[in-house]
Amino acid sequence: MKIIRCEYNCEPRYAILDVENVRFLAHEPYTSIEYSGECVPVSEVRMLAPCEPTKIVCIGKNYRAHADEMGEGQPPEPVLFIKPSTCVVGCGDDVVYPAISNRVDFEGELGVVIGKRASKVETGKAKDYILGYTCLNDITARDIQKSPAQGTQWTRGKGFDTFCPIGPHIETDLNADSSNIQTRLNGEVKQSSNTALMSHDIDSLICFITEGMTLLPGDIVATGTPEGIAPMQRGDSVEVEIEGIGVLKNTIK
Ligand code: MG
Repeated sequence: MKIIRCEYNCEPRYAILDVENVRFLAHEPYTSIEYSGECVPVSEVRMLAPCEPTKIVCIGKNYRAHADEMGEGQPPEPVLFIKPSTCVVGCGDDVVYPAISNRVDFEGELGVVIGKRASKVETGKAKDYILGYTCLNDITARDIQKSPAQGTQWTRGKGFDTFCPIGPHIETDLNADSSNIQTRLNGEVKQSSNTALMSHDIDSLICFITEGMTLLPGDIVATGTPEGIAPMQRGDSVEVEIEGIGVLKNTIK
């Protein structure tokens, strides 16, 4: 099932994408999927980011080959940081290149969308709290993240407005533990990997995060990027494709 958020008659609505049609939901998709009875062609709506997270909890260096390319080695436990909700944009929206940066990178990632309040989740139980999965781009101003003055500034470098494209929809049926993931810059493949190569799998990430931090419905866990990160320029087109979900496409402005 493909859950979308879209604008119809100037109002944001949750819906299910059913090939060429949009079937609106009566309420948010977290407690249950209840149809409103309205159905329109997909051409009549404007796609939005598929959920409204209160926070995006991101994992740094969760693929060994990416940790190696950063020259920093594999950390023994997940490295967490947060992108604010104000980073979120949808498929097709512009990513704004900050005037104060000279290096802005893509990081294609699998996003896990939380479906119900999750606190102190026990090992093996994380799937009970997951609504579905989406493509995510953890856009990073690398020169700000690695601040010469401060050392590291992860939240500042990764927290700019528009720095977290998600979408195009939430896929509820996915074997997320073994999905191909690819990032293309202007059509050229830059990252190509599989979620099976994560150092810490989705279950262990959600258990680790929720030991101390409650995840709310709509929150997203960004599971880390594989190797192949590279800078983008204004005017570039960037696509993150995950097998079984679809393609998240954005332009750098
Ligand atoms: Mg990342």
